[in-house]
Amino acid sequence: MRHIAIVGSGPAGYYTAEAAVKKWGEDARIDVFDKLPVPFGLIRTGVAPDHQSIKAVARRYEKTAIGDTVRFVGNVAVGEDITIAELGELYDAVVLATGAPVDRALPIAGAEADNVIGSAAFVGWYNGHPEFAALGPQLSGKHAVVIGMGNVALDVARILAKTASEFAGSDIVTHALDTLRTSSIETITILGRRGPHQIMMTPKELGELLHLERARPRVDEADLPPVDDDAVLEPGQRKSVTLLREFAALPAEAAEEKPLTIAFDFYASPQAILSDDGKVAGVEVERTTIEAGRAVGTGETYRLPADLVVTCIGYQTSPIPGVPFDERAGRFANDEGRIGPGLYCVGWAKRGPSGTIGTNRPDGYAVIDVVDADIGAGSDRAGRDGFDQLARERELDVVTFRDWQKIEEAEIAAARAGAPREKFVDIASMIAARGE
Ligand code: NAP
Repeated sequence: MRHIAIVGSGPAGYYTAEAAVKKWGEDARIDVFDKLPVPFGLIRTGVAPDHQSIKAVARRYEKTAIGDTVRFVGNVAVGEDITIAELGELYDAVVLATGAPVDRALPIAGAEADNVIGSAAFVGWYNGHPEFAALGPQLSGKHAVVIGMGNVALDVARILAKTASEFAGSDIVTHALDTLRTSSIETITILGRRGPHQIMMTPKELGELLHLERARPRVDEADLPPVDDDAVLEPGQRKSVTLLREFAALPAEAAEEKPLTIAFDFYASPQAILSDDGKVAGVEVERTTIEAGRAVGTGETYRLPADLVVTCIGYQTSPIPGVPFDERAGRFANDEGRIGPGLYCVGWAKRGPSGTIGTNRPDGYAVIDVVDADIGAGSDRAGRDGFDQLARERELDVVTFRDWQKIEEAEIAAARAGAPREKFVDIASMIAARGE
């Protein structure tokens, strides 16, 4: 028998579990741990609430989760309730699928001012992650600045720009919807330290900005390279840049119909956060020029007013005591998913925070090939029985997949009209909803 522990129940975790079932069938027992009592990680708390079609991939993970081969072990924090070393004693392989839940810090002066928020916290807030439910961002000013030009920056700008009615059918949590309803934001500036050719935004997500009820995108024509230069771009990136050209060509009258502006500020590197009485008041920005693909400061600076700043500049994995960590890359030090004997990583914890949800599928299958080569037919380790005994000794309150289904039923029953669910945003309510 092969005893496998997967730490993290997001896309990387469940694709790995799926791969393990495909490879070994009944000859393996796979436990998927999560520190939250609810599964699916980034699908639940990262993917934007108005992107329900992406969230629907959870149905695929459910197929893997139901049955005896794979078990969800929720409400157990690896590193606190049980150590990696203890898991390593019990299971033949421990696969860390813990993602990259920590914001990369913006290394500039003043970044600790109030209402300067990292995207992990901001996204967690509107998605009801228990850690960030009480974030309380202030949307009472006119100017928001979003730093970074990736898809997370687009998610944040779009959520800030939408009207309450545009959230129909989404599972945005009520505390966020209530705050967004009262928002006074008139401009959302997306700051990119490089140019239009270097954006990290994908065309489908960028194109959504053309269909917002009260907001329109704005690009300065002068920032766009000559159109012939787009020929060197790969097709997806060329589509994105073509959309930026479309934004630049929008007629000025659009401003009357759609009063909220989402302005793209290229060649703009944030240098300092300016504050007033501890709260953010602006961003000092230096104009850049691109040399060999890198942003280089020109010495020209200007100040952007800002009442809210959301940094969307990438994420890092949380280190776990005793597990080798690559500080520069912000992920576990690994060789094709191998960290050390019996210890592996997969997904963002392995390769860093890039790619779509689907990128984790081949990653999951690849790590199971590596584990298979290492552990052969498995061992007579204690596996899940051993964990259950330890959980009893430590009085851990383990949440099972059946428990999660009860929690989910309660969330569905509590949904606003037209919404798929109303998420519980604190752990005690999740546990209570499980019942006896
Ligand atoms: P990302 O795509 O890596 O973008 C990060 C952005 O931050 C880049 O524009 C980068 O600029 C900028 N940046 C980094 N450090 C900076 C600094 N010190 N100052 C100013 N700007 C800085 O990361 P992400 O947006 O967090 O997305 C993570 C992954 O999730 C991506 O693969 C993304 O596609 C995916 N995702 C997908 C969806 C979707 O498909 N709907 C939604 C959300 C996220 P440089 O390029 O100059 O470094």
